[in-house]
Amino acid sequence: MMSSKGSLKACRSCRALLPAEQTKCPVCGGESFATEWKGVLIVFSDRSELGLAAGAPKPWRYAVSLK
Ligand SMILES: [Zn+2]
Repeated sequence: MMSSKGSLKACRSCRALLPAEQTKCPVCGGESFATEWKGVLIVFSDRSELGLAAGAPKPWRYAVSLK
């Protein structure tokens, strides 16, 4: 189980999880990030109903919610 402890941060526009050293979101191009986030949603397919329901635009790992 991943948690907010560690070096991942979450994009504030699409909630994609990235390594802390990354400066630009590879999913949406956003440059604003939250270091406090909860839960992990992994989207394996861009046709995933779970991903579409969550507003996830492409296969990636996303935070479920940001603080
Ligand atoms: Zn993003």
